Amino acid sequence: MNILRSNHQQIEDVRPATADDRQSPAKALFCGDILQASLWPFPDMDAEKSDSLNLVVESVDRFLADRQEDFQRWDRDGGQPEEFIEALRELGLFGLIIPEEFGGIGLSNAAYSRVLQQCSRFDSSASLTIGAHSSIGMKGLLLFGTDEQKNRYLPALASGELIAAFCLTEPGSGSDAASISTSASRQDSGDWLLNGEKIWITNGGVANFYTVFARTDSPAGKVSAFLVERNFSGVSSGKNEHKLGIRASSTTSVFFDNVRVPAANLLGEEGKGFKIAMSILNNGRTGLGGGAVGGMKGCIALSVQQAMERKQFGRSIGEFGLIKKKIAAMAVDCFAAESVVWMVAHLIDSGHPDYSTEAAISKVFASEAMCRTATEALQIAAGSGYMQELPYERIFRDSRILTIFEGTSEILRLFIALSGIRDSGRLLQDVSEAFDDITSNPIKGFGLLADYAGRRLGNLASVGQNRIVGAVPDELRDDALVFEKYTLELGRMTDVVLRRHGKSIVEKQFALERLADVAIDLFVGLCVLSRVSSMNNDSSEQYRQAISIAHVFSQQAKRRMNRGLRAMLHNEDEAAKSLAAFLFEAKEYPWDTYRV
Ligand SMILES: Cc1cc2nc3c(=O)[nH]c(=O)nc-3n(C[C@H](O)[C@H](O)[C@H](O)COP(=O)(O)OP(=O)(O)OC[C@H]3O[C@@H](n4cnc5c(N)ncnc54)[C@H](O)[C@@H]3O)c2cc1C
Repeated sequence: MNILRSNHQQIEDVRPATADDRQSPAKALFCGDILQASLWPFPDMDAEKSDSLNLVVESVDRFLADRQEDFQRWDRDGGQPEEFIEALRELGLFGLIIPEEFGGIGLSNAAYSRVLQQCSRFDSSASLTIGAHSSIGMKGLLLFGTDEQKNRYLPALASGELIAAFCLTEPGSGSDAASISTSASRQDSGDWLLNGEKIWITNGGVANFYTVFARTDSPAGKVSAFLVERNFSGVSSGKNEHKLGIRASSTTSVFFDNVRVPAANLLGEEGKGFKIAMSILNNGRTGLGGGAVGGMKGCIALSVQQAMERKQFGRSIGEFGLIKKKIAAMAVDCFAAESVVWMVAHLIDSGHPDYSTEAAISKVFASEAMCRTATEALQIAAGSGYMQELPYERIFRDSRILTIFEGTSEILRLFIALSGIRDSGRLLQDVSEAFDDITSNPIKGFGLLADYAGRRLGNLASVGQNRIVGAVPDELRDDALVFEKYTLELGRMTDVVLRRHGKSIVEKQFALERLADVAIDLFVGLCVLSRVSSMNNDSSEQYRQAISIAHVFSQQAKRRMNRGLRAMLHNEDEAAKSLAAFLFEAKEYPWDTYRV
């Protein structure tokens, strides 16, 4: 995904800025505001929906819990057998988010994310086969399809007769997804001729329904989205890739060689394909986030058992402080990731007009938390964790993809910061236009933004409405004050950065990353506080420990945010850039101790 183009595309149809923009609670943080009403009370699920979710979760448990040996074998073999895919079909797991009228289960985003969580507790590859189908493979049809297209495809997608894949990435186009070269040329008949190659497509080998992005040969040459069946002549897939992790999940190239795609299979409007791709990815992020949370819960269960059973120096290793510290850190990470993923899933379900920044935050936080958790779980198991007999090394390998696909952590941090910077209910029309201009005319765009920054600094000084202390339990008052204080600090620093860098902010990636990190800590922390505030204050140990988690997260976040904000002004960024430039020139590490 190209961060600049993606930002631009996502906002291009919704200018000028309105009060709705400001309702994005994550973006508001960059203006120094906490939109308490968007985050409190912590979202709940009504009893009826909880019951049906329980049924699905229980059937996933029954189906996957005892298959560890299978998962291990399929990981070694690099593929899932057809019987397993068939069993997923029979369980209805391909129809999770498809409305009941089309034969699916019709789960909400939140419930779906919870089901993927359950799948990932047992195996990431199994979760991914289901997730790539629903979160991205056929999500475009759900979000943008016509009634005719839905009637034609959704029943078969719900039953799993059709399995879906999302085809965006190409050999020359990864993060810069807007640069794809797969072409779609319109024929006199109105049909399209599709040519090109997509790579690393999840479910590529098992899918028979592809959402494909291609550049149309209209004068604007814009990207459009197409619904493509495997049985269209000219569609083929390559061999399964040999990968580090998620080895049982099918990842292949998909080729389109003069594929005739009927006019009726254009998805959404011609030329809006990039926006469609980004909307699909945004909407699907809580699937991946839920998967990460499930992986963490699985790791915690394994690690707790290992810590209690493994004895060294005459004691369970769980008695040692450094092992306790790891277990506690896993729980804090998991609780925080679960809170933010759940919050974002409900924002999506509630029809919130703009959740892209929140979704990106949930993806970055949950995926990185899962990577930390998998690393520490393996470390606790140590030598045993390194061996293939136990699942740690597979979980460790599987987790590594999470920060890479569906938007790398780097790209998403840039996206979070840039979309936050442009936000504000106080944005004036010219500033909004300036943001659009950043992609087409950066100099003009940032000139206007710099003017705006000066005006806004005055506004920010008078902000005093962030009173979330009243919304949290007494024990968390100090923690709430941390988030109030650092939200104002983020707002101020956003202004300082805009004033300091003006039009060149877009190239100041060190600064953007720091702003994003503060926003991530703030948003995730607020979700944690909101969740704990909504828990039954029943003096149980579980509640007491939840309070403790919120406290630990807040205090650790405070230290991170403080460090990050200080580093905005005092840092070694120029030295780092110079060192990288030197190494690019030297082509290798040039020092050696024996030459001192
Ligand atoms: C197992 C697997 C499954 C996948 N499944 C799918 C799928 O189903 N469908 C699909 O379409 N794609 C899929 N992908 C592709 C995946 O989405 C891309 O790998 C991802 O978007 C990153 O692209 P890239 O690998 O080409 O990295 P690049 O874009 O080449 O990036 C390389 C590095 O540079 C960084 N970088 C790039 N641009 C910038 C920038 N402007 N500023 C700072 N840093 C930058 C990146 O963060 C990364 O660290 C899959 C990939 C894998 C490995």
